[in-house]
Amino acid sequence: MEKSYSALDTALEQLRIAAEKLELDPGLHEMLKYPKRTLMVSVSIKMDDGSIKTFLGCRVQHNDARGPFKGGIRYHPNVTLDEVTALAMWMTWKCAVVDIPYGGAKGGVCCNPKEMSKGELERLTRRYTSLILDLIGPYRDVPAPDVYTDAQTMAWIMDTYSQFKGYSVPECVTGKPLSVGGSEGRAEATSLGVMFCVREAAKILGFKMNEARVVIQGFGSVGWNAAKIAYDWGCKIIGVSDSSGGIYCKDGLNPYKVYEHKAKTGSVLNFDGCRNITNEELLELECDVLVPAALENQITKANADKIKAKIVAEGANGPTTPEADKVLNEKGVFLIPDILANSGGVTVSYFEWVQNLTREHWTLEEVKQKLERKMVKAFNDVYKTSKNEEEPMRTAALMLGVGRVAEAIKTLGLWP
Ligand code: NAD
Repeated sequence: MEKSYSALDTALEQLRIAAEKLELDPGLHEMLKYPKRTLMVSVSIKMDDGSIKTFLGCRVQHNDARGPFKGGIRYHPNVTLDEVTALAMWMTWKCAVVDIPYGGAKGGVCCNPKEMSKGELERLTRRYTSLILDLIGPYRDVPAPDVYTDAQTMAWIMDTYSQFKGYSVPECVTGKPLSVGGSEGRAEATSLGVMFCVREAAKILGFKMNEARVVIQGFGSVGWNAAKIAYDWGCKIIGVSDSSGGIYCKDGLNPYKVYEHKAKTGSVLNFDGCRNITNEELLELECDVLVPAALENQITKANADKIKAKIVAEGANGPTTPEADKVLNEKGVFLIPDILANSGGVTVSYFEWVQNLTREHWTLEEVKQKLERKMVKAFNDVYKTSKNEEEPMRTAALMLGVGRVAEAIKTLGLWP
């Protein structure tokens, strides 16, 4: 039986492995196990029916040795402090792997956005922002979207922050709509980054993208955009899923049509020409590329042996447990770990922040070119480390990320 892993167990085990391989000073290892700062908040709002409801939330700031804290905000009924702490730690390593000058943070509110009206979500977002206001800011901590938050949520955060300051501060948050200082290409940045990594891995494995059969778990921001890009690149998308279940079509499906179908019916299920399958079956489909783009702990010891993909590209954060990692590695699956694969999102967030601070606006072409350069460099850095150290891609990425953060801490010194 597999030990049951929380996201934080996974993150701490990954840190332990990296610390051991890097022969990290035990004191430094201990320091990196904990966030620098955590704020718990209770977010009380008036619901549409006039009642008052209180939602628990937090903002966790893991490490800022390399630059201001950076990380998304998640709204989900299963949000816990442990999960947000793990996600904050992964942000620290991710920003270091893709080499952007940020530390790592994450925020979360335990709520079910699917059962809330737009007005309730706006009041929740504004109240939450006011409660974490002292912690965030363009040079302190810059939030962004994550599961069940989007560009509109970010616009409310920007407005709330700006109202408190008395002037407009677009650089306090990223992932905003274009109309209020968002960057071209931010919406699909994470997925484009995932696909750039998949393309580089496919070159190594010797197959062409337009021959690839692709399966995607999750049909939200990351999953849907990844499906769209893969389809536009000529891949055959044979399966996708959301929280209601999955669909499979051997001959390939058109994700644009699935998107329209989901917009009309609320889920990807019962799409014409496809067979409904469970999320478990979806992960085990025979394919070239599997992109988990939903939540943590999807590939575990229980199903890792049944994964048939040649490449697993982690669009989601923490979809694979440490025990499943070992199984995938033994099977020879080419795993592109989350802190590399999905780092395109925070990279274009960084571009957005730079554009806001300099009052510039870059074209979509510029953004995509800069993103491609960053992703290909990060992929090659991790791949070279993996070859030189004879370690799997995940360990290599962690060694690179944790190593760069440790170096920054050593260089800064410990005050006082
Ligand atoms: P989202 O809310 O837009 O989409 C989440 C999707 O997952 C939805 O389609 C939902 O139906 C589906 N889902 C939920 N539970 C599921 C389950 N049990 N099985 C299958 N599907 C399920 O969120 P997102 O922004 O696309 O984030 C997805 C993952 O990507 C998360 O792990 C997030 O941390 C990570 N990520 C997101 C970004 C970003 O820029 N949005 C960047 C880096 C990493």
